[in-house]
Amino acid sequence: MVASKVVKRRLIAIEGVVQGVGFRPFVHRLAAAGELRGFVRNDAAGVLIDIEGDARRVDEFCRSVTVDAPLHASIARVNVAPAAPMEYDAFRIVGSETARAGGSASLIPPDIATCDQCLAELFDPTNRRYSHPFISCTACGPRFTIVHDTPYDRERTTMAGFAMCAACQQEYEDPLNRRFHAETIACPSCGPTLWAVSGDATFCGARALDVAVAALRAGHIVAIKALGGYHFACDATSEVAVARLRERKHRIAKPFAVMVRDMDAAYALGTMSPAETRALESPERPVVLVERRADASAAASVAPSQRCLGLMLPATPVHHLLLAALDRPLVMTSGNRSDEPVVIDDRHAIAALRDIADAFLMHDRAIAVRCDDSVVQFIASDARTIRRSRGHAPRTIDCPVFAGPPALALGAELKNTICLTASGRAHLSAHIGDLESVPARAALREAIEWTMRTAAIAPDVIAHDLHPDYASTHLAHEVARELGVERRVAVQHHHAHVASCLAEYRVAEPVIGVAFDGAGLGTDGAIWGGEFLVVDGARFSRCGHLAYVPLPGGDAAARRPWRCAAAHLAMLERKLDGRRPDGVPEREWAGVAQLLERPNDSMPRTSSVGRLFDAVASLVGLCHIARFEGEAAMMLEAAADRHVTRGYPVELSGGDQWTADTRQIIAGIQDDRMRGRSVGEIAGAFHVALCELVMQGCERLRRDTGLATVVLTGGVFMNALLLERACAALAARRFRVLVPREVPCNDGGLSLGQAYVATRAIEEELCA
Ligand code: ZN
Ligand code: ZN
Ligand code: FE
Repeated sequence: MVASKVVKRRLIAIEGVVQGVGFRPFVHRLAAAGELRGFVRNDAAGVLIDIEGDARRVDEFCRSVTVDAPLHASIARVNVAPAAPMEYDAFRIVGSETARAGGSASLIPPDIATCDQCLAELFDPTNRRYSHPFISCTACGPRFTIVHDTPYDRERTTMAGFAMCAACQQEYEDPLNRRFHAETIACPSCGPTLWAVSGDATFCGARALDVAVAALRAGHIVAIKALGGYHFACDATSEVAVARLRERKHRIAKPFAVMVRDMDAAYALGTMSPAETRALESPERPVVLVERRADASAAASVAPSQRCLGLMLPATPVHHLLLAALDRPLVMTSGNRSDEPVVIDDRHAIAALRDIADAFLMHDRAIAVRCDDSVVQFIASDARTIRRSRGHAPRTIDCPVFAGPPALALGAELKNTICLTASGRAHLSAHIGDLESVPARAALREAIEWTMRTAAIAPDVIAHDLHPDYASTHLAHEVARELGVERRVAVQHHHAHVASCLAEYRVAEPVIGVAFDGAGLGTDGAIWGGEFLVVDGARFSRCGHLAYVPLPGGDAAARRPWRCAAAHLAMLERKLDGRRPDGVPEREWAGVAQLLERPNDSMPRTSSVGRLFDAVASLVGLCHIARFEGEAAMMLEAAADRHVTRGYPVELSGGDQWTADTRQIIAGIQDDRMRGRSVGEIAGAFHVALCELVMQGCERLRRDTGLATVVLTGGVFMNALLLERACAALAARRFRVLVPREVPCNDGGLSLGQAYVATRAIEEELCA
């Protein structure tokens, strides 16, 4: 390019994920290439660039700065303003400005898995960071889980206490170095250190890794401090080791995820599509549910009676070093006591986890915020998130609806997340978990505080579930009082499920919402979960639902599928004598049968599809007592014969609010059992019937309302078979089908939907 004589100066303000992704070094290089002068600095809202020089080159710079931005950057807004030339003498990266202007805060990137260049250095004996467990650069390493506040600079992260050595300082200041302004820069002489605790002994440095490797090889359980919390690890090929972990963790059957060294090790355990391979190798490094190989070396007890196996590749240098030394797959599961959130505090870790772990692998870089592993699954070639955490959080979900008053939503009781919205963005927290325990509720509060601080948002309205007894509802009232927020919105559970998907797809128009779910309180006091809704922003109408059945024992029925079987049978015949499935205790059956024969008004009623799955799983003899939430449904899906094309008859009856009768399904299954039809075929036919039900319901709603966009959501749709079939069938009949992808369809996505409804409610002046 030929330099013109005209000098031009521009002020460029960029918002989005532009800190912690190598943006300033990138700007510096770009300025150097164009021989431009001025400065770049982080501020509370993002990055500010003051650029001056040859007019044509300044124009070129303004274009490139957004078009060629670094891989992990995500630009939300750019504002370019002219300014009078200043006659700068050079281009510099200058100190951050922390003052908040205009309220919008810079966005923190998710943690990023070790990049290829760092990985090569990690295993290069001649490199000064050879086997350094905390190697990182401007393109990789921890971000989200080390940040206390914005702007993203080392002093506001948990790296603050580690003063750079001269060598690191030099790299940090060298524009040609790929660690130029890498805030997480560290090396063996100045970075965090690793140590292991085994029995009463402590081992440091390389010895620490050896101790952990030896313990894992010996079949022991090691608690490993990872990015967003502790993991428990054990040899995934050892039946004894996995059984020991299950026993100590009181986790009888729920599948464990497995970490493998590389893709070759992954191919030995599962079969993967190219899309699944890409997901495994992505910088987010989620757990990917893949089809397990029949000859997989992983112990059967890793994921008993599952078709799938959750696999992930190493995300941090510590994991890379461990897996390279061991060269065998490791079970990698959240380091927590049952029903408690993942542990992040070191002192607490030893006290809380010592009766589960035989050894600990720890380090002195603190964890600022809790974050579990993410879980994704593929439906055909489309990824969808089952648990949205590491690698995804705290990425925002942008939707124009959130330009309204700032809202805070506290989610539901299970798979809890919180959501804070403002300026068109939703800050959805990482997975917090079930709120049964005191530590879980404390974690929810921590997540609220962290999000409010880093996003610089104070809510005008607080949203929560309609259920008055959820811990999240109680906390919503507490937090509202503390913050002096007067506006509260109680959002019906399934309304929120559908709204969550609308937020993800930025939809403002009314839609048909099909919410198939475990349980959520309805506006009539019954337990809903098989709902056909028309959702229009803050309003919804319940147009149809599964016919109610009694739920003997209320919530207790959720873990006892046989109770649901009894309830569904009781809808068919008055007497349950002689109907007891094998394996159900006789006395308990008799007790429940008696209750069902004389149902009274105090017995809860439900339209839940989750409970229908439970009933069917028990009727076919697969599962009478569930060892974890959703087990019966997972077993039924795994058993289903995918070649079955004929289902059981379904029928919608009634006028304005119709119901879907499930009695013919249950009767058909009973007949098939008598005739000796296989469990696989019955399970297959049941899935076909549910798919038919979705079709009929949607066709009827389209006829009644003219709407042709359908949202399929709720925890039941984690069932890939049902979702895939229902999507295909609806698409074939020219419905536009929306399915949650970025945000979980289970209760993990609920807070986003609550925030959507609350914001629309204020807009539509439905709430004071
Ligand atoms: Zn790197
Ligand atoms: Zn150093
Ligand atoms: Fe739900």
